[in-house]
Amino acid sequence: MSFFPATLTPPDLSEVLHIHGPASSRVPVVLDSPHSGHLRPPDFGCQLSDEDLRDAQDTHIDSLYLPATELGISLLTAQYPRTYIDANRHEGDVDPALLDAPWPDLYQPSGKAALGKALAWRTLDDGRPLYAGPLTVQAMQWRIAHYHRPYHAALKRLLDAAHDQFGCVYHINCHSMNPVSGLMGEGGSGAVRADFVLGDRDGTTCSAAFTAFVQQALAAHGYGVAVNQPFKGVELVRAYADPVHGRHSLQLEINKRLYMDMASGQPNDHFPVLQQRLRQLIADITLHFPPETKP
Ligand SMILES: [Zn+2]
Repeated sequence: MSFFPATLTPPDLSEVLHIHGPASSRVPVVLDSPHSGHLRPPDFGCQLSDEDLRDAQDTHIDSLYLPATELGISLLTAQYPRTYIDANRHEGDVDPALLDAPWPDLYQPSGKAALGKALAWRTLDDGRPLYAGPLTVQAMQWRIAHYHRPYHAALKRLLDAAHDQFGCVYHINCHSMNPVSGLMGEGGSGAVRADFVLGDRDGTTCSAAFTAFVQQALAAHGYGVAVNQPFKGVELVRAYADPVHGRHSLQLEINKRLYMDMASGQPNDHFPVLQQRLRQLIADITLHFPPETKP
Protein backbone atom coordinates (compact mmCIF):
# COMPACT_ATOMS: atom_id res chain seq x y z
CA MET A 1 0.00 0.00 0.00
CA SER A 2 1.40 3.36 -0.95
CA PHE A 3 1.94 6.25 1.40
CA PHE A 4 -1.03 8.62 1.24
CA PRO A 5 -1.41 11.07 4.16
CA ALA A 6 -4.93 11.32 5.54
CA THR A 7 -4.50 15.04 6.20
CA LEU A 8 -3.16 16.01 2.78
CA THR A 9 -4.17 19.51 1.66
CA PRO A 10 -4.33 20.49 -2.01
CA PRO A 11 -1.11 22.08 -3.31
CA ASP A 12 -0.75 25.77 -4.13
CA LEU A 13 -0.78 26.34 -7.89
CA SER A 14 2.84 27.56 -7.52
CA GLU A 15 3.81 24.01 -6.48
CA VAL A 16 2.13 22.60 -9.57
CA LEU A 17 3.16 24.89 -12.42
CA HIS A 18 4.92 28.11 -13.34
CA ILE A 19 4.46 30.50 -16.26
CA HIS A 20 7.72 32.18 -17.27
CA GLY A 21 7.55 35.37 -19.33
CA PRO A 22 4.24 37.17 -19.87
CA ALA A 23 0.98 35.76 -18.45
CA SER A 24 -0.20 35.43 -22.08
CA SER A 25 2.02 35.35 -25.16
CA ARG A 26 2.38 38.67 -27.02
CA VAL A 27 3.12 36.79 -30.27
CA PRO A 28 1.37 33.64 -31.58
CA VAL A 29 3.88 31.22 -30.02
CA VAL A 30 3.44 29.27 -26.76
CA LEU A 31 6.02 26.98 -25.13
CA ASP A 32 5.44 24.28 -22.55
CA SER A 33 7.81 21.98 -20.66
CA PRO A 34 5.88 19.23 -18.84
CA HIS A 35 8.89 17.12 -17.77
CA SER A 36 11.50 19.47 -16.30
CA GLY A 37 9.94 19.59 -12.81
CA HIS A 38 11.59 17.97 -9.81
CA LEU A 39 9.69 19.15 -6.69
CA ARG A 40 8.43 16.02 -4.92
CA PRO A 41 4.80 16.25 -3.81
CA PRO A 42 4.30 15.09 -0.18
CA ASP A 43 2.27 12.05 -1.23
CA PHE A 44 4.74 10.81 -3.90
CA GLY A 45 5.96 7.80 -1.89
CA CYS A 46 8.63 6.97 -4.48
CA GLN A 47 11.50 4.83 -3.16
CA LEU A 48 14.06 6.16 -5.68
CA SER A 49 16.40 9.12 -5.12
CA ASP A 50 16.23 12.46 -6.92
CA GLU A 51 19.36 11.43 -8.80
CA ASP A 52 17.67 8.21 -9.93
CA LEU A 53 14.60 10.15 -11.09
CA ARG A 54 16.71 12.61 -13.04
CA ASP A 55 17.05 9.97 -15.76
CA ALA A 56 13.33 10.40 -16.49
CA GLN A 57 13.35 14.21 -16.31
CA ASP A 58 13.82 16.64 -19.15
CA THR A 59 16.55 18.24 -17.04
CA HIS A 60 17.25 21.96 -17.71
CA ILE A 61 14.67 22.20 -20.51
CA ASP A 62 12.98 25.06 -18.64
CA SER A 63 16.18 27.12 -18.42
CA LEU A 64 17.19 26.18 -21.96
CA TYR A 65 14.11 27.96 -23.34
CA LEU A 66 14.08 30.82 -20.83
CA PRO A 67 15.76 33.38 -23.16
CA ALA A 68 12.91 32.84 -25.65
CA THR A 69 10.50 34.38 -23.13
CA GLU A 70 12.27 37.73 -23.77
CA LEU A 71 10.45 37.66 -27.12
CA GLY A 72 7.11 38.07 -25.32
CA ILE A 73 6.41 34.33 -25.24
CA SER A 74 4.89 32.42 -22.32
CA LEU A 75 6.69 29.27 -21.17
CA LEU A 76 4.57 26.95 -19.02
CA THR A 77 6.54 24.50 -16.85
CA ALA A 78 5.40 21.71 -14.54
CA GLN A 79 7.00 21.88 -11.09
CA TYR A 80 6.40 18.21 -10.21
CA PRO A 81 8.27 15.19 -11.62
CA ARG A 82 6.72 13.53 -14.66
CA THR A 83 7.23 10.20 -12.90
CA TYR A 84 4.68 11.33 -10.23
CA ILE A 85 2.10 12.11 -12.88
CA ASP A 86 2.84 12.79 -16.53
CA ALA A 87 1.00 15.77 -18.05
CA ASN A 88 1.91 14.36 -21.45
CA ARG A 89 -0.56 11.49 -21.05
CA HIS A 90 -4.32 11.39 -21.33
CA GLU A 91 -5.85 11.37 -17.84
CA GLY A 92 -7.41 8.00 -18.67
CA ASP A 93 -4.03 6.46 -19.50
CA VAL A 94 -3.72 4.77 -16.11
CA ASP A 95 -1.58 1.67 -15.61
CA PRO A 96 -3.71 -1.07 -14.00
CA ALA A 97 -0.53 -2.87 -12.89
CA LEU A 98 0.32 0.12 -10.65
CA LEU A 99 -3.04 0.15 -8.79
CA ASP A 100 -4.29 -1.93 -5.86
CA ALA A 101 -7.89 -1.99 -7.16
CA PRO A 102 -9.77 -1.71 -10.48
CA TRP A 103 -9.80 1.81 -11.96
CA PRO A 104 -13.34 3.21 -11.65
CA ASP A 105 -12.92 6.28 -13.91
CA LEU A 106 -12.25 6.87 -17.61
CA TYR A 107 -9.77 4.32 -18.99
CA GLN A 108 -8.00 5.22 -22.22
CA PRO A 109 -4.76 3.25 -22.59
CA SER A 110 -2.08 4.46 -25.02
CA GLY A 111 0.21 1.45 -24.82
CA LYS A 112 2.77 3.37 -22.70
CA ALA A 113 1.88 1.20 -19.67
CA ALA A 114 3.80 -1.64 -21.33
CA LEU A 115 6.93 0.54 -21.00
CA GLY A 116 6.07 1.48 -17.38
CA LYS A 117 5.45 5.06 -18.59
CA ALA A 118 1.71 5.61 -18.45
CA LEU A 119 0.01 8.43 -16.51
CA ALA A 120 2.08 7.68 -13.40
CA TRP A 121 5.34 5.87 -14.04
CA ARG A 122 5.71 2.33 -12.67
CA THR A 123 9.37 1.80 -13.66
CA LEU A 124 12.31 3.87 -14.86
CA ASP A 125 13.81 3.43 -18.32
CA ASP A 126 16.22 0.85 -16.86
CA GLY A 127 13.35 -1.18 -15.42
CA ARG A 128 13.73 -0.22 -11.73
CA PRO A 129 10.35 0.11 -9.93
CA LEU A 130 9.42 3.50 -8.43
CA TYR A 131 7.35 2.04 -5.59
CA ALA A 132 7.59 -0.80 -3.12
CA GLY A 133 3.92 -1.62 -3.76
CA PRO A 134 0.82 -0.52 -5.68
CA LEU A 135 -0.84 2.90 -5.45
CA THR A 136 -4.40 3.36 -4.27
CA VAL A 137 -7.12 4.54 -6.64
CA GLN A 138 -7.54 7.55 -4.33
CA ALA A 139 -3.86 8.47 -4.70
CA MET A 140 -4.13 8.39 -8.50
CA GLN A 141 -7.33 10.45 -8.49
CA TRP A 142 -5.59 13.04 -6.27
CA ARG A 143 -2.70 13.38 -8.74
CA ILE A 144 -5.10 13.83 -11.66
CA ALA A 145 -7.26 16.41 -9.89
CA HIS A 146 -4.49 18.52 -8.31
CA TYR A 147 -1.55 18.24 -10.75
CA HIS A 148 -2.60 16.92 -14.17
CA ARG A 149 -5.77 18.91 -14.77
CA PRO A 150 -4.38 22.28 -13.60
CA TYR A 151 -1.45 21.90 -16.00
CA HIS A 152 -3.77 21.11 -18.93
CA ALA A 153 -6.06 23.99 -17.98
CA ALA A 154 -3.11 26.41 -17.91
CA LEU A 155 -1.83 25.25 -21.29
CA LYS A 156 -5.29 25.43 -22.87
CA ARG A 157 -5.75 28.95 -21.52
CA LEU A 158 -2.42 30.10 -23.03
CA LEU A 159 -3.21 28.49 -26.39
CA ASP A 160 -6.78 29.85 -26.47
CA ALA A 161 -5.61 33.36 -25.56
CA ALA A 162 -3.03 33.42 -28.37
CA HIS A 163 -5.47 31.94 -30.88
CA ASP A 164 -8.18 34.43 -29.90
CA GLN A 165 -5.79 37.36 -30.29
CA PHE A 166 -3.80 36.33 -33.36
CA GLY A 167 -6.05 33.92 -35.28
CA CYS A 168 -3.40 31.21 -34.99
CA VAL A 169 -1.05 29.69 -32.44
CA TYR A 170 2.24 27.81 -32.80
CA HIS A 171 2.76 25.60 -29.77
CA ILE A 172 6.13 23.98 -29.13
CA ASN A 173 5.95 21.16 -26.62
CA CYS A 174 9.51 21.11 -25.23
CA HIS A 175 11.30 17.90 -24.23
CA SER A 176 14.67 16.21 -24.06
CA MET A 177 15.75 12.59 -24.46
CA ASN A 178 18.59 10.37 -23.36
CA PRO A 179 21.29 9.83 -26.01
CA VAL A 180 20.74 6.05 -25.95
CA SER A 181 17.48 4.33 -25.00
CA GLY A 182 17.36 2.11 -21.92
CA LEU A 183 15.78 -1.28 -21.31
CA MET A 184 12.25 0.16 -21.47
CA GLY A 185 13.03 2.82 -24.10
CA GLU A 186 10.95 3.74 -27.12
CA GLY A 187 12.49 2.20 -30.24
CA GLY A 188 14.05 -0.67 -28.25
CA SER A 189 16.97 -0.95 -25.84
CA GLY A 190 20.28 0.55 -27.00
CA ALA A 191 18.79 2.71 -29.78
CA VAL A 192 20.95 5.77 -30.49
CA ARG A 193 18.92 8.99 -30.76
CA ALA A 194 19.30 11.82 -33.26
CA ASP A 195 20.24 15.33 -32.10
CA PHE A 196 16.59 16.39 -32.37
CA VAL A 197 13.34 14.51 -32.91
CA LEU A 198 10.31 16.47 -34.08
CA GLY A 199 6.89 14.93 -33.44
CA ASP A 200 3.70 15.99 -35.19
CA ARG A 201 1.92 12.64 -34.85
CA ASP A 202 2.49 11.81 -38.50
CA GLY A 203 1.51 15.22 -39.79
CA THR A 204 -1.75 15.57 -37.83
CA THR A 205 -0.94 18.16 -35.14
CA CYS A 206 0.53 21.04 -37.19
CA SER A 207 1.02 22.15 -40.76
CA ALA A 208 3.71 20.39 -42.79
CA ALA A 209 5.24 23.83 -43.35
CA PHE A 210 5.78 24.35 -39.61
CA THR A 211 7.50 20.97 -39.12
CA ALA A 212 9.64 21.54 -42.22
CA PHE A 213 10.62 25.05 -41.09
CA VAL A 214 11.83 23.84 -37.69
CA GLN A 215 13.58 20.82 -39.20
CA GLN A 216 15.45 22.95 -41.74
CA ALA A 217 16.38 25.62 -39.20
CA LEU A 218 17.96 23.02 -36.90
CA ALA A 219 19.62 21.12 -39.75
CA ALA A 220 21.22 24.39 -40.89
CA HIS A 221 23.33 24.29 -37.69
CA GLY A 222 24.56 20.82 -38.67
CA TYR A 223 22.27 18.95 -36.24
CA GLY A 224 20.76 15.60 -37.21
CA VAL A 225 16.95 15.94 -37.11
CA ALA A 226 14.53 13.00 -37.18
CA VAL A 227 10.76 13.37 -37.59
CA ASN A 228 8.23 11.15 -35.77
CA GLN A 229 10.90 8.48 -35.12
CA PRO A 230 10.96 7.16 -32.45
CA PHE A 231 8.84 9.91 -30.81
CA LYS A 232 5.66 11.04 -32.59
CA GLY A 233 4.44 13.29 -29.80
CA VAL A 234 1.85 12.24 -27.22
CA GLU A 235 -1.04 13.93 -25.40
CA LEU A 236 0.02 17.57 -25.16
CA VAL A 237 0.47 17.96 -28.93
CA ARG A 238 -2.66 15.92 -29.60
CA ALA A 239 -5.12 17.46 -27.16
CA TYR A 240 -5.42 21.06 -28.44
CA ALA A 241 -4.09 20.83 -32.01
CA ASP A 242 -6.36 21.75 -34.91
CA PRO A 243 -4.10 22.81 -37.78
CA VAL A 244 -6.97 23.45 -40.20
CA HIS A 245 -8.15 26.16 -37.80
CA GLY A 246 -4.71 27.60 -37.08
CA ARG A 247 -3.82 25.60 -33.96
CA HIS A 248 -0.40 24.06 -34.53
CA SER A 249 1.38 21.85 -31.97
CA LEU A 250 4.85 20.35 -32.46
CA GLN A 251 6.85 18.22 -30.05
CA LEU A 252 10.56 19.03 -29.96
CA GLU A 253 12.88 16.46 -28.36
CA ILE A 254 16.49 17.54 -27.76
CA ASN A 255 19.26 15.02 -27.21
CA LYS A 256 20.55 15.65 -23.66
CA ARG A 257 24.17 15.26 -24.70
CA LEU A 258 23.83 18.49 -26.70
CA TYR A 259 23.49 20.55 -23.52
CA MET A 260 24.45 18.59 -20.40
CA ASP A 261 27.08 16.33 -18.95
CA MET A 262 25.28 13.02 -18.62
CA ALA A 263 27.27 11.90 -15.54
CA SER A 264 26.94 15.05 -13.43
CA GLY A 265 23.67 16.41 -14.85
CA GLN A 266 25.27 19.86 -15.13
CA PRO A 267 25.00 22.06 -18.24
CA ASN A 268 27.94 21.63 -20.63
CA ASP A 269 29.82 24.17 -22.77
CA HIS A 270 27.27 23.94 -25.59
CA PHE A 271 24.38 24.90 -23.27
CA PRO A 272 24.57 28.69 -23.83
CA VAL A 273 25.06 28.15 -27.58
CA LEU A 274 21.94 26.00 -27.74
CA GLN A 275 20.01 28.51 -25.61
CA GLN A 276 20.72 31.25 -28.13
CA ARG A 277 20.01 29.01 -31.13
CA LEU A 278 16.61 28.08 -29.69
CA ARG A 279 15.86 31.74 -28.98
CA GLN A 280 16.78 32.58 -32.58
CA LEU A 281 14.71 29.66 -33.92
CA ILE A 282 11.67 30.92 -32.06
CA ALA A 283 12.31 34.52 -33.17
CA ASP A 284 12.46 33.23 -36.76
CA ILE A 285 9.17 31.34 -36.25
CA THR A 286 7.46 34.55 -35.16
CA LEU A 287 8.64 36.27 -38.37
CA HIS A 288 7.86 33.37 -40.71
CA PHE A 289 4.46 32.54 -39.19
CA PRO A 290 2.92 35.92 -38.37
CA PRO A 291 -0.57 36.51 -36.93
CA GLU A 292 -3.40 35.66 -39.33
CA THR A 293 -5.52 38.54 -38.10
CA LYS A 294 -4.14 41.74 -36.66
CA PRO A 295 -5.25 42.43 -33.10
ZN1 LIG B 1 9.68 14.95 -22.05
